[in-house]
Amino acid sequence: MNSLMLNMDGVQIPQLGFGVWQVPDDEAEQAVQTAFQAGYRHVDTAQAYGNEAGVGRAVRDSGVPRRKLFITTKLWNADHDQAERAFEGSLSRLGLDYVDLYLIHWPVPEQDKYVEAWRALERIYRDGRAKAIGVSNFTVQHLTRLLDETDIAPSLNQIELHPYFQQRQLRDFHEANGILTEAWSPLGQGRELLDDPALAVLAGKHGKTPAQIVLRWHVQLGHVAIPKSVTPSRIKENVQVFDFTLDVEDMAAIGAMNRRLRIGPDPDTFNFLG
Ligand code: NAD
Repeated sequence: MNSLMLNMDGVQIPQLGFGVWQVPDDEAEQAVQTAFQAGYRHVDTAQAYGNEAGVGRAVRDSGVPRRKLFITTKLWNADHDQAERAFEGSLSRLGLDYVDLYLIHWPVPEQDKYVEAWRALERIYRDGRAKAIGVSNFTVQHLTRLLDETDIAPSLNQIELHPYFQQRQLRDFHEANGILTEAWSPLGQGRELLDDPALAVLAGKHGKTPAQIVLRWHVQLGHVAIPKSVTPSRIKENVQVFDFTLDVEDMAAIGAMNRRLRIGPDPDTFNFLG
């Protein structure tokens, strides 16, 4: 598994992680164990997913030393003005004494408290309770405010990103500002994307599945990606992308698939607090 440098402290993030959105708490433990057995060392959860406890059980029972695992969780929208308390709640549900990465889940622009939340994340990071801090679903405008008004730049921005929604401008901004790009719904939620004929051609050429082609594309662009599956064979399939290379034409063919097709909410208008 490749890792990428996440911040100035030398913290590394495994380039593929295991996403657990929509995995019920009582199934999360088994799914995460399966992922660890398949070779994942990085799990992406959130307060809002309601499965931090299951993830934590899997971490503690895995037999893998804690320092070899990378655990991300996220601050929920309603808690921007009480981020430290929310963080302690996450740590306690996880049963851990630190997380590797703590993210602000959404900017919630209408509420306009993400700068305040970020200052709390800076304190959590300085105390060593999160080895790195970052954001999710931030646009150029939200990132610019953090860069202008606070002390520590986000190490990473976790955004919707797949061949049908490539977010080129935002990725360029990340690159110019030393912010790592992390792709959520990296497989486009497995919908029509994975049936796209262009991916079938590349899958045939490399003897791989469409999902592996898409994940390899993320890897070669230098993204972190966090595919989700609860099916053991797919969990394994999704991590086996380090034994082949897409050439320049293959990368260009996937680059040409962009449809600007957003699946999830638009961060500029998503103000849900529930
Ligand atoms: P995804 O792109 O990872 O797609 C997952 C779906 O694709 C699965 O449910 C399954 O139906 C299908 N699939 C997975 N592997 C497959 C394979 N090998 N072959 C065929 N089909 C396959 O989408 P996602 O679950 O929405 O996103 C992944 C993770 O990203 C989440 O679990 C979560 O951790 C994170 N996420 C974060 C945010 C955010 O706001 N920060 C939002 C959504 C998701």
